[in-house]
Amino acid sequence: MKVLVINAGSSSVKYRLYQMPQEKVISMGFVERIGERDSELSHSYQNRIHTEPVKVANVGEAMELVLRTLVSEDRGVLGQLSEIGAVGHRVVHGGEEFTGSVIIDEKVIASIEKFSDLAPLHNPPNLDGILAVKRHLPDTKQVACFDTAFHATIPKVAYMYALPYELYEKYGIRRYGFHGISHRYVARRAAQLMGRGKYDINAITCHLGNGSSLTAVKNGHSIDTSMGLTPLEGVPMGTRSGDLDPAILFFLEKKGYDVQALNDLCNKESGMLGLSGISNDMRNIEGAAGKGDERAKLAIDVFCYRIKKYMGAYSAVLDTVDAVVFTGGIGENSVLMREKICDAVSQIGLKLDRQANKNAIGKEAEINTQDSDVKVFVIPTNEQVAIANDTYGLTKEQATDRIQPEHLKEYQV
Ligand code: AMP
Repeated sequence: MKVLVINAGSSSVKYRLYQMPQEKVISMGFVERIGERDSELSHSYQNRIHTEPVKVANVGEAMELVLRTLVSEDRGVLGQLSEIGAVGHRVVHGGEEFTGSVIIDEKVIASIEKFSDLAPLHNPPNLDGILAVKRHLPDTKQVACFDTAFHATIPKVAYMYALPYELYEKYGIRRYGFHGISHRYVARRAAQLMGRGKYDINAITCHLGNGSSLTAVKNGHSIDTSMGLTPLEGVPMGTRSGDLDPAILFFLEKKGYDVQALNDLCNKESGMLGLSGISNDMRNIEGAAGKGDERAKLAIDVFCYRIKKYMGAYSAVLDTVDAVVFTGGIGENSVLMREKICDAVSQIGLKLDRQANKNAIGKEAEINTQDSDVKVFVIPTNEQVAIANDTYGLTKEQATDRIQPEHLKEYQV
């Protein structure tokens, strides 16, 4: 069966067409800078990549272009669209309703719309992608894979903010967590690499990229994660502040910042960019720090220190840690960040093999020494293949990797 995986965001639509269950990529590509004058299509077919400037005003038009390209005469990979057996979508926010991936029906669509309130930048374009596919392929099954779903096992003690309880009841204000598809994928892969079952691992999974989050995985289940109601909470990121004293915002409001300015400040102007004054991109910051730039060095130190604090907290939450996993653009590629972070958390029983770390750039590897109590893995994330597998499994009515009801109960305290 051919499964099309879609990740529709506000400014881009990324796609991958798989032959399942072989997990073979038939074609992949993206439409970028949607709604701008210099939108671009990139499309791979038969070991070639075609790029082309395009005019697309919104996600719906981008989806239409993707579907047209997949069946185009000169660059197509399908005879007709009906060859697509199912379409899987990454959906950022599933609120408290979704504990796993689901087949999309009108009720699911209504729920995704409802949770737009909690993820106003993400759920609306995710939904636009779903609706566009529905228009062009009305009879094809679609599946929603939620970034929040893996975190459905986080106990109440970890997800409640110490705010008036009514805010949770009235508005659903609680910690939800994100990057769940990635954390689940790498936790499962780490268990496999250790020769264990998926529920037989305690791990701290570190998804470190432009957005970063850490998850405490106990017996294969997420029991705490660093992102919260929104992806702003947690460790500092490319342009996001991560945790801060909320009173800073009240202080700045008195200095004349309005809500929009505060939102932009915390989400777009802070983190590595704000600290370094150079870039949100870790490669540029590492480069500047290497040349002696003090603020770049500070940004790196703050990033690693805050990750150390989360790892210390999660080792306490987990009691025993079997493995630490690095993934995401920084986690998969930055030798320096992994070294600094691992050196900082040696007290949890982790010993880094420096040479193995140096060799592990963008590829799966075990990078701990033989006598390390804790395994350290670099595992390139593959959210697309996780979505393809969930989509294939649900469409074929096979068991998918979803939280079992007894596990949901087990963790709710
Ligand atoms: P992601 O959001 O997962 O695509 O990750 C993007 C981040 O990974 C950016 O900050 C990049 O600078 C960072 N990154 C990618 N490759 C490297 C590398 N070789 N060294 C350091 N950071 C990297």
